Amino acid sequence: MNIAVLLAGGSGKRMGGPEPKQFIKVAGNPILEHSIRAFSANPGIDEIVIVCHADYLDLASGIAKPYPKVKHVVPGGKERYDSSLAAIRLYCDHPQDNILIHDAVRCLVSQRIITDCLNALQKFEAVDVAVPCTDTICEVNSDGHIVRIPARSSLRNVQTPQGFRLNTIAKAYELGLKDPEFITTDDAGVVHRYLPDTPIYVVNGESTNIKITFPEDLILAEKILKSDNK
Ligand code: C5P
Repeated sequence: MNIAVLLAGGSGKRMGGPEPKQFIKVAGNPILEHSIRAFSANPGIDEIVIVCHADYLDLASGIAKPYPKVKHVVPGGKERYDSSLAAIRLYCDHPQDNILIHDAVRCLVSQRIITDCLNALQKFEAVDVAVPCTDTICEVNSDGHIVRIPARSSLRNVQTPQGFRLNTIAKAYELGLKDPEFITTDDAGVVHRYLPDTPIYVVNGESTNIKITFPEDLILAEKILKSDNK
């Protein structure tokens, strides 16, 4: 079985506005609904789980109602990884199934990306999605001074979905949570750090698979959703 998890538990502070950004309407529908549609439309996806803030469970459930693949709408946690864990724990009895964990605010994800991730999971236990960096990236210290400029040719911007065999991601988090310095902004990073012998295959992402973060992203998303380019 292939399970898609839509992480919609963030507060979306960088966007401003009264509601979290995943509930803002773009091209006529909430951002979350566009993501539900994308995963519902993929024949390889069997079930969908939505993780959202406890205050918005009813709203998310209402949005999900017309989509029969959505089997659970559950509360998330403080950090993104708390929300991932809420979904992973739901499926602790399915160690050999696959889970695709996706930022609900990346509502422009294509069918090609989802299918490539599912295909890669037939061979690999962990799969990431990324695009080559177009900007040069620098690392700075606490004084704001550059300490490192890695070669751009080897750098990638990481996107989602990120896919895993359930027992692999559960094991990685089990090890990670024992680390007093545990910190992460994605799920593949947990596998990379705590199961370093597990190869993580990288599927080609797309420049349009943006994480809607700032108000100007809404304009781009609206344009892309209204075009046939998706
Ligand atoms: O905060 P960030 O941009 O990394 O959020 C990426 C995705 O994770 C968003 O769709 C957001 O709603 C979700 N998230 C979550 N639970 C949190 C924080 C973020 O589900 N505690």
